[in-house]
Amino acid sequence: MTGSLPRADGFAAAATGRSTRRRIVRSVVNLVQERLGASSMAEQVLRTIGPVVLLGPPGAGKGTQSKGITEHYHIPQVSTGDLLREHVKQQTPLGVQVQAVIARGELVPDNLVCDIVAWRLRQPDADRGFVLDGFPRTQKQAAWLDSFLKFEFFDSGKWASWLPIVIRIEVDYNKLLLRITGRRTCPICGSIYNVHSKPPLVDEICDKDGAKLVIREDDRDEVIRERLDTYEHQTKPVAEYYMALGRLVTVDGDQSPEAVSASILKEIDSHACDRVQRNQAKGT
Ligand SMILES: [Zn+2]
Repeated sequence: MTGSLPRADGFAAAATGRSTRRRIVRSVVNLVQERLGASSMAEQVLRTIGPVVLLGPPGAGKGTQSKGITEHYHIPQVSTGDLLREHVKQQTPLGVQVQAVIARGELVPDNLVCDIVAWRLRQPDADRGFVLDGFPRTQKQAAWLDSFLKFEFFDSGKWASWLPIVIRIEVDYNKLLLRITGRRTCPICGSIYNVHSKPPLVDEICDKDGAKLVIREDDRDEVIRERLDTYEHQTKPVAEYYMALGRLVTVDGDQSPEAVSASILKEIDSHACDRVQRNQAKGT
């Protein structure tokens, strides 16, 4: 089994030669399909997108939008929440430290979060760019990110520029509240509905499995108000940091998800063009 093939599962040892062969053929087919897909999108693949920072309150559709960006440009999404969980799960040296902090009931300190983000951004799949979700959360982290990008991507000659494009998805507070409190989740399959914008066929019942829909604890009115206030309080300094540097772009999040997505891609595209012109001006 070569390194380029997917890791064999636990059944491999017991598998007959024929099913192993079938599995290898399937892997090769997948690889070829991947390559073909990549070459038809060669332009996207070759382009350096750079760092994309998404800011937006809970419920503004940040998750959907960052998924859209990663699929469009083929760059990874870097979510600090996922990273922290993954490191703890894998019990990496960083994860062990994080776990100890959480066990003491403390917030994960900036330096630890930054170390974990640095580790992630050094992975080869982040070479052309990445979407940061949940980071930077403080001005200190934003400043750290700037110096990290400068040293690791710009000074090392990897990128012609290191300035992140910072996109804030702005939504009307009351509309957002309505949107979030209207959310219903299926406890069986995890499908998400919204009584205002995406109701199930039968009130409060999952279309797929007939389960009674529930309101997630996080989506309750009083919980969400508190989360929105916390967000406002936390993110304001980060937004101000980027605004002062003239790097904050605001997108109207009250439009349809498709329209929000189109606005975001447009901003990223024009940012990438800006980068090219700057390169030419520098003669590189
Ligand atoms: Zn369901």
